[in-house]
Amino acid sequence: MKLNPQLEHLPVYHGGRPLEEVARELGLPAAELIKLASNENPLGPSAKAITAMREAAARVNLYPDGNAFYLRKGVAEKLGVTPANLIFGNGSNEIIEFVSRALLGPNTNIVVSQYCFAIYPIAAHLAGADCISVPAKDFGHDLAAMAEAITTETRIVFVANPNNPTGTRASNEAVMDLVNGIPDDVLLVMDEAYFEFIDDAPDLLPLISEKQNLILMRTFSKIHGLAGLRVGYGIGHPDFIAALEKIRQPFNLNAIAQAAALAALEDDEHVRATRENNTEGLKFFENAFAEMNIETVPSYANFILAKVGDGKAMFEKLQQRGIITRAMGGYGLADWIRISIGTPLENGRCLAALADLR
Ligand SMILES: *Cc1c(COP(=O)(O)O)cnc(C)c1O
Repeated sequence: MKLNPQLEHLPVYHGGRPLEEVARELGLPAAELIKLASNENPLGPSAKAITAMREAAARVNLYPDGNAFYLRKGVAEKLGVTPANLIFGNGSNEIIEFVSRALLGPNTNIVVSQYCFAIYPIAAHLAGADCISVPAKDFGHDLAAMAEAITTETRIVFVANPNNPTGTRASNEAVMDLVNGIPDDVLLVMDEAYFEFIDDAPDLLPLISEKQNLILMRTFSKIHGLAGLRVGYGIGHPDFIAALEKIRQPFNLNAIAQAAALAALEDDEHVRATRENNTEGLKFFENAFAEMNIETVPSYANFILAKVGDGKAMFEKLQQRGIITRAMGGYGLADWIRISIGTPLENGRCLAALADLR
């Protein structure tokens, strides 16, 4: 067979290790392990979403609504946009694929920041495009330098704000400068997977109807606690959304996911509790690491980077004790691990193990 030549050098994305897999290896019940590796919601899914899933489960003999009518309507109303401004993906990762397929090919490039979300370069390389990586400033995106790095071949600029894996955010002023300054023929993807964890995120929704070349990405995986269902969405100009809809497979969003996401959207109390738990957990780790003289990067998301020396070794030792974190060598941060904020109990166990293992 003649495989797509891009596949030969394409790295495989390694996510956080699944609980069940580590449990099998250690010979322990999964319930005894703690997963702080994938920025999931430690409070679980909303109870309302669970009820909605049960009801939807009884009808899975039927194909899902390919247009996600009710979820689309619900999100549109919540955000004050029109249904035509929205496209749903099997996780917002699928939106990254849609925009890549719509815009990238050989002799094109994307612009990203050093320490960017790993999926952007993978999607670009698969499409045969190059990736221009702009050096980070204090671990965060240097948006002005990214704007300057744009070439005539650039088709997409990807910005996660707050960013994963660093937890950094750009100032609202820098974001607005980039949004207003980006050339009309370059798409700006603002990945807002963690925007619910900050209070004063830049409000880009009003610009969606004016700018064809701006798309916002959001997800139900983080604040809403539905990572296992895979629901994300893009918010953009109706003309651009219509182009992306041609790429989307008709039943990409399953029926249980649609029902759960709609219910989660209405559960403001669960979102509030999640934010509160996160704020407390971040403070706990920041204070504790400061006392232990462990360097951290100030985080605006639901995880924290900690400089522990040999990150891979610490990841493995913690895992031996049933605590799954993430080593950061793949991001060029070999001395660091990323810890997702858990419940107070999980955070305490993680910190105690780390203190013991240093
Ligand atoms: C977690 C995350 C996403 C969301 O991915 P899903 O496919 O929606 O689960 C998107 N972007 C970034 C930067 C993330 O960290």
